[in-house]
Amino acid sequence: MKNNVPGAAVSIRCQFTFADGRCCRMPRHADHSSLCLFHAREELQLREAQRLGAEISASLNGDFLTATDINHVLGKLFTALAQNRVSSRNAATLAYIGQLLLQSLPNVKKEFEFNYDFDSWNQKLAEATPLSDPPSAPAPALLSSATPAEDS
Ligand SMILES: [Zn+2]
Repeated sequence: MKNNVPGAAVSIRCQFTFADGRCCRMPRHADHSSLCLFHAREELQLREAQRLGAEISASLNGDFLTATDINHVLGKLFTALAQNRVSSRNAATLAYIGQLLLQSLPNVKKEFEFNYDFDSWNQKLAEATPLSDPPSAPAPALLSSATPAEDS
């Protein structure tokens, strides 16, 4: 359904199409050009997940060969979980992988000797990729809606 205003190309309905070809029947969200609140949130969560994943996994040295690297990444994971930006299930999985990385460090250090001094460590921390601010949340009253209606 389109607006009846001449020249207006913006639909009043969500433009999301399901896998079976049906269209979402929810009204378009006022702050989005083509999607309802539910699908706009899904789109935002997908973009946020990709960006947040890259931010969390960025270690100090670009790898996970020092306890500082792993500690730094786990610290960002802690913050993201506290901000409710990652699911507790994903956070638990990532924390477990971090634990495995930490447990394997002594063996890595037996194979490759490397050290860095306190000043270079401090500089690495200062240059480290921080977590971005969480995205602004939609109004709580709008979040109570369940799944959107579908055309059949
Ligand atoms: Zn929709």
